[in-house]
Amino acid sequence: MPRDRIEDADLPQKCPTCGAPLKRALCCRRCKTDLGPLSEIIRNHRRHMHTARRAFADGDAGRMFIHARRAHGLRQTPESIRLLACAALLTGRFEIATGFWAANRGADEG
Ligand SMILES: [Zn+2]
Repeated sequence: MPRDRIEDADLPQKCPTCGAPLKRALCCRRCKTDLGPLSEIIRNHRRHMHTARRAFADGDAGRMFIHARRAHGLRQTPESIRLLACAALLTGRFEIATGFWAANRGADEG
């Protein structure tokens, strides 16, 4: 795969700086904004989400919490909130879990 193209389907469709369509390029054709660092953040977010899910499957809640927290710190998504809240519950961090619940109450409704 050429280095100047992005595989991540959830990267923005438009340049965050000027709004030009990106067409999966790592650099905006109009304003030359470098999207490499953003792509790296998304890649690391996905890696930590995957590792957290694997840790859950392995029954390692402590490792799950570490990676869920790192993923959520890099990029906040509905999935990262749920994963971190579950990891917080499994590790007895009830204040964190209830904090996410209170902040996102009703987000999945309607
Ligand atoms: Zn741009």
